[in-house]
Amino acid sequence: MAAKSTTTIRQVLRYQPHQAAWFAATQALFNQVVAFYFEVIQAHAKLLDLNNKDALTALEMLTHTTRKNPTPLMPLEEISEDLPALFRRAAINAALGSARSFFSYLQQWRKRKEKAVARGKTFTERPPVPARTWNKSVPFYGGQWQERTASSILLKVWTGTCWSWLKVRLTGRELPPDAALGSPSLIRRGKQWWLHTPIENHFARPATIERQVTTNRETTMCAVDLNLDDHLAVCTIQTVEGTILATTFIGGGQEINGFRKQQLGRIARNRRQTGIIAQGEQDNVDLWRKIKHSDESLAHLVSARIVQFAHHHGATILVFEHLGNLKPERGKYSRRGNSKRAFWMKGRIFTYAKYKAWDQRIITSRVNPRNTSRECARCHSLVARYQEGQPAEGYTEGAPLVLCHRCAMRGHADRNASLVIGQRLVARSQKPRQEKPSTPLPRVERVEKSTGVLLSQEVKRKEEPSSLRARHGGRNEHGTAQGRRRRMGTPPPSIPRQLRLPLE
Ligand SMILES: [Zn+2]
Repeated sequence: MAAKSTTTIRQVLRYQPHQAAWFAATQALFNQVVAFYFEVIQAHAKLLDLNNKDALTALEMLTHTTRKNPTPLMPLEEISEDLPALFRRAAINAALGSARSFFSYLQQWRKRKEKAVARGKTFTERPPVPARTWNKSVPFYGGQWQERTASSILLKVWTGTCWSWLKVRLTGRELPPDAALGSPSLIRRGKQWWLHTPIENHFARPATIERQVTTNRETTMCAVDLNLDDHLAVCTIQTVEGTILATTFIGGGQEINGFRKQQLGRIARNRRQTGIIAQGEQDNVDLWRKIKHSDESLAHLVSARIVQFAHHHGATILVFEHLGNLKPERGKYSRRGNSKRAFWMKGRIFTYAKYKAWDQRIITSRVNPRNTSRECARCHSLVARYQEGQPAEGYTEGAPLVLCHRCAMRGHADRNASLVIGQRLVARSQKPRQEKPSTPLPRVERVEKSTGVLLSQEVKRKEEPSSLRARHGGRNEHGTAQGRRRRMGTPPPSIPRQLRLPLE
């Protein structure tokens, strides 16, 4: 069976200074048209029941004047005349994409509201609102570009007064020969315009994890323990039969936490001085951008290193634990804000690693996070976790060392956890289907989609307030079953439940 992955080739455009205004005009017009179609769809939400092709036809009937269709209901001409058909279609597809995602969020919100009302609870969560400003990049469908060579391309752009073919030079990474090109997009980064071209790589689909694990004892996997503290990721390479081949610690957590706390502290000080307390105010925009940028680039860096390590050791499976829920921290604004962002970053590292791994034909999976740090990777009894120089007993959250009193295993706590994560995947895959642990919560799954990251976790935070601080803290985030139970309104148990040991 065939599978594919998509990579993006990013090239810098070289053009005359005044031509930058043409790109800006093209993008502005595109967003105007997208906004127009988004409104049309809002007024005819039934369109979303159709597939994209039929919805596109229906939207053209509603808006596009032709001889056969002389008086459409909502004429596009009011925005602009003589739009190239392919430009219009790109805008319709962009609007459809945004509308589908918006209405699906709205529907989920309605469901949550209905549920709350049915239980007699007050529901304060605000409904999602459509974007007020649009800032989409313009895709150039075939016909809107031509004569592409390694170093130049002709693009059909709107100059502000007319449509015109513009030849621009391309620099940067070259397109691989024989690549299947997608539609290039015009992207603005700062003052510079770029051309992003998706290319598709086709390859034989790798065997499923279950198949790889059950048919080949030598199958190699890379298990990753993600942390909020200094070691952002600890990865171990192990085979299905349990041979441990390599370990790596990916650091950088201390720096990013320090940096973030510092910026958040500055934001808090600015807010105190200006007296702005409302959330989401546009103050401190630059500071926020700085934080976001450093989080993004670190998530890319860490995920790239994870996948590189996995690939280098011939791993065909990458396994993480489920992210669990955000446990709010008490304390200063900078501390709370930092832990929240660190949590989001874990989600991003997973998401980025997943698609980078797929480019290397590595399949990614997640396992139940319950007690992965408390279990001995060798004999599966409970470990003691402690600081260096302290007695090896009890369980100190976040401490670096573990000792198993039953089998005398000694080691690094995060490395032990990553081994347990890998073993869980093997155990799960080898069990007959019906005995598999329940499938993860759909809401947690949504975190995988990068666009949903903030929203779904925001929602979570609201639903599960600080009274639900973890009983066994740290990375030992509660499993699926508990999360579900709690949502039903049962108070969290004060004593951790008995370990369920997947390998016994
Ligand atoms: Zn042990």
